[in-house]
Amino acid sequence: MEYRGNNNILNNYYEKTGRRRRKILVVDDDDISREVLGRILGDYYEMVNAENGAEALKILRSKSHKISLILLDLIMPVMGGYEFLDILTKDEGFSSIPVIVTTSRDCEEDEVRCLESGASDYVLKPYRPEIVRRRVDRIIRMRETASILNMVERDRLTGLYSKESFYLEVERLLECNPDIEYDMVVADVEKFKLINDRLGTKVGDQVLCYMADRYRQILGDRGICARLHGDVFAILIEHGDGSWKRTLLRQWNEDGEGVPIRNVVIKYGIYENVSRDIPPFGMCDRAILALKRIKNMYGRYAARYDDSLRAQLLREQQIQDCMEEALREHQFQVYYQPKYDINSSHISGAEALVRWKHPEFGFMSPGEFIPLFERNGFITQLDFYVWEETCRNIKRWMDEGRSIVPISVNISRMDFETPDLAEKIINLVDGYGIDREFLHLEITESVYTDEKEGLIEEIHTLKQSGFKIEMDDFGSGYSSLNMLSEIEVDVLKLDMRFIQECTENKRSILSFVISLAKWLNLVTIAEGVETREQVEQLKRFGCDFVQGYYYAKPMSLSDFEKFMDRDGLEQLEEQEKPFDLEIVTPEPSEVKKDTVLIVEDNGMNRVILRDMLEPFYNVEEALNGMEAFEYLNEHPGKVSVILLDLMMPVMDGFQFMRKRAQEKAVLEIPVIVTSESDENSDLMALRMGAERFVGKPYSEELLLLSVKNAVEHWKLEHRE
Ligand code: C2E
Ligand code: CA
Ligand code: CA
Repeated sequence: MEYRGNNNILNNYYEKTGRRRRKILVVDDDDISREVLGRILGDYYEMVNAENGAEALKILRSKSHKISLILLDLIMPVMGGYEFLDILTKDEGFSSIPVIVTTSRDCEEDEVRCLESGASDYVLKPYRPEIVRRRVDRIIRMRETASILNMVERDRLTGLYSKESFYLEVERLLECNPDIEYDMVVADVEKFKLINDRLGTKVGDQVLCYMADRYRQILGDRGICARLHGDVFAILIEHGDGSWKRTLLRQWNEDGEGVPIRNVVIKYGIYENVSRDIPPFGMCDRAILALKRIKNMYGRYAARYDDSLRAQLLREQQIQDCMEEALREHQFQVYYQPKYDINSSHISGAEALVRWKHPEFGFMSPGEFIPLFERNGFITQLDFYVWEETCRNIKRWMDEGRSIVPISVNISRMDFETPDLAEKIINLVDGYGIDREFLHLEITESVYTDEKEGLIEEIHTLKQSGFKIEMDDFGSGYSSLNMLSEIEVDVLKLDMRFIQECTENKRSILSFVISLAKWLNLVTIAEGVETREQVEQLKRFGCDFVQGYYYAKPMSLSDFEKFMDRDGLEQLEEQEKPFDLEIVTPEPSEVKKDTVLIVEDNGMNRVILRDMLEPFYNVEEALNGMEAFEYLNEHPGKVSVILLDLMMPVMDGFQFMRKRAQEKAVLEIPVIVTSESDENSDLMALRMGAERFVGKPYSEELLLLSVKNAVEHWKLEHRE
């Protein structure tokens, strides 16, 4: 990790602003004196000359010169040095310009007098070049440092130290108190953004000010405190006996004097007994590292930086030191994990996943380095490398006449910081002469909820250019289902946890999400599929594609090619067989066992539906919601699925759904809404708890599949 202490910040500042641009005003009536100074300093500074005080003031007031320093002779005609100094120090605009007095008299009296008059230093004539240069350099530097610090010394909102001045103060405090042990504490408000969003930034500001006051009080003269940025505070405090810690770490839950709002949760990271060998920046880093461990963890308010975190930091440091070399030396390899069509079990695509074969650390999985790269920005280079490798391989497969499937690459949130990301991807793919459809882009869900401007437009451009967009990790973040209809994606990639932690609750959400995706014309793919049971269930819910260890693990390029060749052969053999309708038609043993109730006022529709369903199910009919309830009450436990029209006289579909919600026996029976799909009513039906929506005109396959899935779902629930 790169530590940038304050000195570096200042150095950078000097380097950026450059010496050459600074101007020195020489005020001296003696030509030779001015010329000598010009020779000593002219290589480093721009020299401006004045023959006396009056002329110097004119130059200063002309504003065309921004003077960094004045070299002032004392004895001059028209306006002498002391008079000039007197005017200068009283003028607000000029009083901050440092003055070095030049004199040929080495006498203490003079020296004292000019320092009293406001000069910063003095040099003796005849000039000794090295000494003049050093003094000039030092004084300009000091003055500028002071003004930089003045600029940022205090945080405007809270009055605490700003980050830069805090670091300087920490250094000073540690230096002045070599025998005292200190702790560095970093405080962070949990979900501060929510406070700002919900209650307004004014309340947010009140919270920050309240915290600042509280810390100031607790600290007294035992330490110092800063607001690093946003809602993050840093506190350096004497280690002492630790009693302060209890006070500091106490959350404020109750109303109290000046407490702006209740139930604000603050998390603390603590780096105890700071080492004086690391810069303040690094001390805060360590405290922040500890803090991150308990972020979003319920009931944990403070964490200490310890050896395991130290080891992690060291490891990160090592990784960081060698990542660029690793990229140059092709230590990163792209692995491919096949994606399967859940119904035909053939490979339909693959995901490119990066691996790192490090000569020393061995094989590393992305979990170890991707999060770090996302923090330090290196991910952008690595991702581009992975995309390029992928394109190169697709092109080669094309040239070798192999069968090709689309390959999905991951796009990290950080990548969107790249200007013209869309253009870069387009150029890359076009450069290799491959069809854009062959590169799918996996963009993690949380990117869509980012409020960052331009991000959605970038995705839009990519989609319009013909790339397929997959929303990765769907269900892991905060995206709303509502959002799905607004943004542009082609594929929903269901988060692994959906499939793996399959509680009853998750299962019904899963089935709902898949139905909704269908309705929105989105393809669904489930990742992290590990067992046969999961496959069966996903199949029942109507999921389209699967990816996971149950089918295949991520594999090297050569293994993947072999895999593809084998799959191609199997596919050829199967083409000889007639199309397998097994998934659509129910098992013979199930025939006629299950009853479907059609609730529909239109006779024509009832006939169409009956024709489709009759071969496999017992079919009953009702003309409206009221009749349906009568039938259901008379035949408890008989009906497995209800097909419900929405627009009906007496009791329409919406009324039916509301009444259903209150009757437990009926509530258990899944409802498939069959209605015109152009109305808002379909979404409402799903919201009211319908299992699925099948639009008119009915597709036979979709209808049968939906009924079959619903029946199986019902049975599954009833068995448990
Ligand atoms: P992801 O994009 O969600 O990728 C899926 C991860 O799940 C992969 O882990 C994959 O190996 C793993 N996985 C696949 N099937 C199963 C399964 O049945 N069970 C379990 N438990 N895991 C399964 P991997 O390769 O370790 O990658 C982890 C994450 O690192 C990825 O999650 C992705 O976010 C990131 N990543 C990997 N390669 C790249 C890359 O080239 N660029 C970027 N930006 N991120 C990458
Ligand atoms: Ca992915
Ligand atoms: Ca994922």
